[in-house]
Amino acid sequence: MPRKKSSPQKKHRFFLNPYIDCAFTKCPKCETKTKIRKFPLVIHIEPQQLFFLNKKCKYCTNCELIIVKKQEIEFLIAAGLNQPPETIENKYLVMGTIERKDWQAANKGLLSPQEIITRMYVFKDQWDFEVIPAGWYPSEEK
Ligand SMILES: [Zn+2]
Repeated sequence: MPRKKSSPQKKHRFFLNPYIDCAFTKCPKCETKTKIRKFPLVIHIEPQQLFFLNKKCKYCTNCELIIVKKQEIEFLIAAGLNQPPETIENKYLVMGTIERKDWQAANKGLLSPQEIITRMYVFKDQWDFEVIPAGWYPSEEK
């Protein structure tokens, strides 16, 4: 079925966790205990490459927030591209997620990058949190 609208569908929020020693067993926003869930992530790598990663992430069902460790994802991207991790840093953007069946089709080469982009769920929002001794606060509320 062709879609009527070409604007991207939106789903989930995203937080790229830069803190190596913080696992976020609780959501930094609402303090709900986070769950572990696998998401097929769509990552854009400069200059023009799409990379897919079916990755276990921390997930807050309340905020629909996906939390991914920066160090982990950079390591996996670098391994997937056969490049040292330092060449990946600041050259990628985790854009959204795709359905598992679309991820499988993409891996088999059955979907073109253009088709994947039209099926992708772009993140509603990218959040950022900073650590201060008393707890976690969204960085825009400093
Ligand atoms: Zn939450």
